[in-house]
Amino acid sequence: MSTAAAPRLRAAPATLSPEPPAGCVLCSRLAAYRSANAAAYPAYFNGPAPSFGAEDASLLIVGLAPGLHGANRTGRPFTGDYAGDLLYRTLIKYGLARGVYDARPDDGLALSRTMITNAVRCAPPQNKPAPDEIKLCRPFLAARIAALPKLRAILCLGRIAHQSTLAALGLPSRAAAFSHGAEHALPGGIFLFDSYHCSRYNTNTGRLTAAMFESVFEAVIRRLDRPGA
Ligand code: URA
Repeated sequence: MSTAAAPRLRAAPATLSPEPPAGCVLCSRLAAYRSANAAAYPAYFNGPAPSFGAEDASLLIVGLAPGLHGANRTGRPFTGDYAGDLLYRTLIKYGLARGVYDARPDDGLALSRTMITNAVRCAPPQNKPAPDEIKLCRPFLAARIAALPKLRAILCLGRIAHQSTLAALGLPSRAAAFSHGAEHALPGGIFLFDSYHCSRYNTNTGRLTAAMFESVFEAVIRRLDRPGA
């Protein structure tokens, strides 16, 4: 575990909403993609997928961005995306979600102690947000973090989520290096955990196994259950 000696966490401007407006146009490429998708798939959600979970969450999970036919279709992070199968199965296994995950936003699944968000809220072409899009969406991540009064741990799924979370907290990237399974103590009492993203590519290639993913959750829960955490 690394202990970063960095400035205190920076609070987001109080006026910014933690969720982008439905018609957000900050990223012109993503807004154009959204319009094209609204024409091609009118039944889809086609908007910034709002964060999902408990407003009193002590754990925030940060993903990358909605998949075109997953969260962009259903309007709930990781819902209908291949990556959501492992994520929600694991959350249920460790008691961080109650109910049945059925890849629909109305499946009744409820998160406990946990909220899920994305570093970039709109679906990007080829699932690849551009650096300026990650940066433009970051104030919403910062506001999301600042709006969780009981937050103790952030689990970053992948390097981009890790880097954007550090920047959202006002920390330089040298404050914590991304490494699967790492736990970083950040100033302000927040613990940042890293996992490889639970994407189809990572799970199909064996870069991330269910056991590896579960080990990360076990570490997160140990931290959350520690007295004073
Ligand atoms: N769906 C999401 O909402 N986020 C990801 O990072 C991947 C799939």
